[in-house]
Amino acid sequence: KSGFVSIVGRPNVGKSTLLNRLVGQKIAIMSDKAQTTRNKIQGIHTTDKEQIVFIDTPGIHKPKHRLGDFMVETALSTFNEVDVVLFLVNVAEKRGAGDNYIIEKLKYVESPVFLVLNKIDQVHPDELLPIIDDYNKQMEFAEIVPISAMEGNNVSHLVDTIRTYL
Ligand code: GDP
Ligand code: MG
Repeated sequence: KSGFVSIVGRPNVGKSTLLNRLVGQKIAIMSDKAQTTRNKIQGIHTTDKEQIVFIDTPGIHKPKHRLGDFMVETALSTFNEVDVVLFLVNVAEKRGAGDNYIIEKLKYVESPVFLVLNKIDQVHPDELLPIIDDYNKQMEFAEIVPISAMEGNNVSHLVDTIRTYL
């Protein structure tokens, strides 16, 4: 099987960390500083079961100027052309304006959107259910997958789930 997957989320939620783990080589820049990744960078995850092209999008944020507006539109335009969109959030932080802005855009995306709850290594398991409830009230997600991109927890399950959509 083969397909395309977009990764979206506000800055610092772990998009580059996940992408680097999935493709097994460092191709995107990782940093605590917001928006280090300025361009779409594609990585290919290849196993004997599948080949998946991942697209790392710049942190989508409410544009303050026209270049920002262009960047957001560029990222959004890819979403209808991929097999799956991964919406990454940081479970260690409350849903914020940046997440809400992306959710408003994702509501109009035709491709299946997964809610990927990242950084589960930073919260107690009991905290996950209320967070899932909260996001579920905002929009309907095709799948909800908790992971730790940094430690690798449940990342193989995420790939297994993506595979069923290819
Ligand atoms: P991006 O801006 O969305 O691409 O985020 P990055 O991948 O650059 O990650 C931002 C910061 O979060 C870095 O310091 C990462 O090491 C850290 N990070 C990413 N994933 C995880 C995770 O699963 N757990 C923890 N604790 N930190 C993470
Ligand atoms: Mg990044």
